[in-house]
Amino acid sequence: MPRLSTTGIHGGDHLHTVSDVTPPINISTTFKYTNDPDKLEKMPPGPFPYEVGKPVYSREGHPSGEFVELVISKITNSYAVAYNSGLSAVYAAYTHLNPKVLCIGQGYHGVHGIADIWTRNHGLKQYGLDEEDLEKLGPGDVIHLETPVNPDSLCFDIQHFADKAHAKGAFLVVDSTFAPPPLQDAFEFGADIVMHSATKYFGGHSDLLAGILLTKSEDVWRKLLDDRIYLGTNIANLESALLLRSLKTLELRVKKQSDSATKIAKFLNESKEKYPAIAKVHHSSLQKDAFVARQLKGGHAPTFAFELQTEDQARRFPSRLKYFYHATSLGGVESLIEWRAMSDHTVSPSLLRVSVGIEDVEDLIEDLEQALSGI
Ligand SMILES: *Cc1c(COP(=O)(O)O)cnc(C)c1O
Repeated sequence: MPRLSTTGIHGGDHLHTVSDVTPPINISTTFKYTNDPDKLEKMPPGPFPYEVGKPVYSREGHPSGEFVELVISKITNSYAVAYNSGLSAVYAAYTHLNPKVLCIGQGYHGVHGIADIWTRNHGLKQYGLDEEDLEKLGPGDVIHLETPVNPDSLCFDIQHFADKAHAKGAFLVVDSTFAPPPLQDAFEFGADIVMHSATKYFGGHSDLLAGILLTKSEDVWRKLLDDRIYLGTNIANLESALLLRSLKTLELRVKKQSDSATKIAKFLNESKEKYPAIAKVHHSSLQKDAFVARQLKGGHAPTFAFELQTEDQARRFPSRLKYFYHATSLGGVESLIEWRAMSDHTVSPSLLRVSVGIEDVEDLIEDLEQALSGI
């Protein structure tokens, strides 16, 4: 089996039949039926008979989306289904699993938004991740684990929650957005469905919106494809082409971003005396639990957070920086910093979230130093 970077570039070569080195962008929404009337088939009852490789209408499937799903399947050694956003992927996972009870911890606010819609419409009961919460799980229910978690990139023990879920006949969904390949493979520790917001590291250029569900089960994969046709949440044509471009550099980008984030978190953590404005640094590399190194076998989270002493310092800090854009989101090649209180009302108002890009890490550290020394 070729390795990650090779697969990212060559994983779809057998579908790539034209001489253009970059596969052409295909924007068609509909595809011609055969001209042979004897081969025309009436639609049977039941799920729409969508066949991979035989596009009919792009909401069901289209060549660029299938191409990108195939490469992601190979990269992740699983079956991949692509969606038009990370939240569409989460919605699809809940639609498929249809839990009555959801155990969910701290994490991305939008996922809590979906859970709340589920509670409003279907009476879903929500609990946390403590031992007594997990006791509420029954067969078919779901633990939703985000690890490393937004915004501070601390890790939860996937194996522990997989065992708890499975003991109750429930399922474990892992949001692995903060640790894309090659950092973490949640299947190794018992995840049933792995989700990524591909808007972040898979996309990597802050120019596409997409989500991915991964499963080890061909049967689940087929059911997710069938549901997606009617949820109307297939990844778009143009986004697929952009995502395919991004997969070619996934490993290069993510390894560098992970290395740089680890260096910067270490620098900040060791500079608390020199720059007393730094109150606290949160990063998976500063977490001492033994499972962290097992889970993040490819490197630490490329996004982390730190707190300054006051809310006012945090509000003003992004505007002092040259190389970090003040913006939400993460995963792109350009470094971002966010006064996180602007996107999430549950975090400390003195917290800054940093998504480390692929700029030279020394330049990034110098930029942070000049900003810190001015406080
Ligand atoms: C961004 C994000 C999502 C949602 O993804 P979208 O592509 O914005 O819909 C879900 N989980 C995490 C951890 C995220 O960072």
